[in-house]
Amino acid sequence: MFALDKFSLIILTRCNLHCRLCCEYVPQNSPFPDMTVEEEKKILDVAFHVVDHIKVLHLTGGGEPFLHTKLPELVESAMKYNKQFDRLMLFTNCTVPISERLMKTLVKYKEKILVQVSQYGLFPEREQKILHSLLDNGVPCKTVKYYGEEQDFGGWVDFGSWDSQMCSPEKLENRFHGCAVTSAMHGNWRTRDGKVHWCSRSQRGMELGLIPDEPEDYVDLFDSTSREEKQEKFQQISEKYYLSACDHCSGDQGTEDSSLRYPAAEQMEVKR
Ligand code: SF4
Ligand code: SF4
Repeated sequence: MFALDKFSLIILTRCNLHCRLCCEYVPQNSPFPDMTVEEEKKILDVAFHVVDHIKVLHLTGGGEPFLHTKLPELVESAMKYNKQFDRLMLFTNCTVPISERLMKTLVKYKEKILVQVSQYGLFPEREQKILHSLLDNGVPCKTVKYYGEEQDFGGWVDFGSWDSQMCSPEKLENRFHGCAVTSAMHGNWRTRDGKVHWCSRSQRGMELGLIPDEPEDYVDLFDSTSREEKQEKFQQISEKYYLSACDHCSGDQGTEDSSLRYPAAEQMEVKR
């Protein structure tokens, strides 16, 4: 059986916040169109053909997923594959009021759903109201606190500029294996368009044209290779010495050196 611990579907790339160190690079870039239910189905059909089982399927951004007007439909549609995943995880920055339609869907699938609520402390009253509306309806939540004392992960990391650092293979190997995505998460498989990457730096960097496209570094669910060949490619990427994106990333500094942490969700000035 070919299984993955987690698989993220990027359902949108826009957000109501403008965090300076956003690891999805949302405030600095124009959004792609939101994922449609048909696009989600197309990707999940192939993903669950290639992968027999996923422990946690994420519907996430790229941005603030609760802004997606079709989120209830996307959840409904994802639930059709529920025998092939253990849990469906949704994410929110806890600043977008939850519609009645979405709440009904979350309640309907609460045995299978987990909502990760990131609390930035920017709008404390709104955060509390939204969190309590979820909890009062019995929707399982995992809260992640990014303000005040004892912040999750000690604060945020800075993955640095997109310029090539011309690093030696040894340095890149250390960076890749020291990075939390590799050492702690064992991969953060994610896709928006069917190209499945190991980490957000690789996926967002290539789709935004910020780093060169390197087909060896992702599994293209829609290419002409067989199911078995795609499975082999997942395996090969997870056993790589490093990714091309690692030369355009200071992930090792951000994740290895616990002193290098930054205030979370610092808001950028937005030009209107
Ligand atoms: S809440 Fe902040 S970190 Fe999260 S997607 Fe929006 S801008 Fe990025
Ligand atoms: S590109 Fe950055 S985040 Fe991705 S694996 Fe390499 S060091 Fe880690």
